[in-house]
Amino acid sequence: MNIFDLTGRTALVTGSSRGLGLAIATGLAEAGATLVLNGVDATRLEATAQDLRDKGFSVRVAAFDVTDEAAVVAAFETFDKDGTAIDILVNNAGIQLRKPLVDLSTPEWQRVMDTNLTSAFVVGREAAKRMIPRKNGKIINIGSLTSELARATVAPYTVAKGGIKMLTRSMTAEWAEHGIQINAIGPGYMITDMNKALIDNPQFDAWVKGRTPAKRWGKPEELAGTAVYLASSASNYVSGQMIYVDGGMISVL
Ligand code: NDP
Repeated sequence: MNIFDLTGRTALVTGSSRGLGLAIATGLAEAGATLVLNGVDATRLEATAQDLRDKGFSVRVAAFDVTDEAAVVAAFETFDKDGTAIDILVNNAGIQLRKPLVDLSTPEWQRVMDTNLTSAFVVGREAAKRMIPRKNGKIINIGSLTSELARATVAPYTVAKGGIKMLTRSMTAEWAEHGIQINAIGPGYMITDMNKALIDNPQFDAWVKGRTPAKRWGKPEELAGTAVYLASSASNYVSGQMIYVDGGMISVL
């Protein structure tokens, strides 16, 4: 028996049209899972899904905005109607906004909180409602180094990611007894669209390479193994944890 095997499991990964979500989804598919990809840009989402289907994976799409509660609820009702049981949920969708606190408007603050934190509660709640009667499920929330550390110009993101750490523990406090394991992954500085401006900034690039013990940015596919572990029976007694995949950065910052 392969304890990492995800054959027969269905995984919904929010924000999986590109970046870390796509890398995580690909890893779960390679371990045998059927995928439900999510994003807001329906055209990009379908193109990503087709690419994965061409590689032989079983993939469907559910385009919805994770900040739109009615859309989230409707998506799960559609899953119910067509008999799709979500066994694995990865709350990955997120946005970054770099602005000093004094210049930040309340709607900007709220948008970052809604996308990075409240969405994980809403999508997690809808998933857990269905997992609890089945006594089985895996939820992986995507945190960040900023789940632990504050940095200038990213206050709402930091507050949201700190919240992800406690949301992961709060979900564990309520749902672990129902056979659901909820854990988090805290990526370090990874090469994705979200960080494009930082990667292209020589000073920031040098800072990341200098401060990360591994001396380099992370590649999205380097999250896949941790996601497969947390989605599989290999982690059945691991609950409420945040695993940092960061080239060692949390140890030295
Ligand atoms: P990207 O910007 O590269 O990709 C973001 C993904 O999220 C896209 O698929 C996008 O969909 C989707 N998305 C954004 N907003 C919504 C929404 N409202 N509803 C549904 N989907 C949405 O980001 P990354 O891959 O870099 O980041 C993924 C996660 O990892 C985020 O939570 C981020 O905070 C976290 N993270 C990233 C780090 C990094 O270094 N990159 C480090 C630590 C954490 P679409 O294509 O339709 O726009």
